[in-house]
Amino acid sequence: MTISRKAYPSWFRRFKQWRPQPLFSWPTQCHVCATWCHDILCDSCALQHQPHDPACRACALDSLQPICANCLSSPPIWQACASAVSYVEPWRSLIIGFKFNEQAGLAAFFAKLMLANDHLQALVSTSTHLIPVPLSAKRQRQRGFNQASLLARHLARHKCIDQGLLRVTDTASQASLSREKRQANLTHAFAVHPAHRPHFIGKHLTLVDDVMTTGSTLHACALALLQAGAAKVDCVTLARAQSVPHADSL
Ligand SMILES: [Zn+2]
Ligand SMILES: [Zn+2]
Repeated sequence: MTISRKAYPSWFRRFKQWRPQPLFSWPTQCHVCATWCHDILCDSCALQHQPHDPACRACALDSLQPICANCLSSPPIWQACASAVSYVEPWRSLIIGFKFNEQAGLAAFFAKLMLANDHLQALVSTSTHLIPVPLSAKRQRQRGFNQASLLARHLARHKCIDQGLLRVTDTASQASLSREKRQANLTHAFAVHPAHRPHFIGKHLTLVDDVMTTGSTLHACALALLQAGAAKVDCVTLARAQSVPHADSL
């Protein structure tokens, strides 16, 4: 919990974050081509599926301009947004495995991928706190973990506030809804945890999520943080859907 964390001296926080590096790692199979290697993807697949073309710095959609035409005419509620990869194969299958097949161990690999993106890394390093997009209590109980929290902890454990935002209503599946209906569905779905509210006033907060589709969830979360007094909100996600998803998407 961040409130008590502030009482610890910095050397103690660094000590708590330290993990011994293994001297030897067992070989594993590449999640894409099944050759033996020492990471989630072999070198060849990692090269072949390089993240992400130049992207708009406000919505993370592919764009040759720093800010795309859509964001110039209708800026999002947050200041900046960055994603590591597009929500396409092989990332889509890996993320589904991460969320639904209890492969929580992929979080460290995904966080490394995210921090390899310079813009995303800058947003993480300049923000005061990382706020994971919360799941409803029911969904978190079913899944056993919140994938956004796992990512945030691996991005910067000392900045992560797991319960900074709460999901106060359990919305129906968003997958088949239009952007407008998603936003209406999510109105008042998120609230700032009362214990953390004083720590957010005037701060630079960065929302963390696994996949950004239409951006409606991040919009509702950012709105809650800004209404609580945050000076600035940014968003970072592992993947960015380049088009409105079909009903089978997340
Ligand atoms: Zn491979
Ligand atoms: Zn944009």
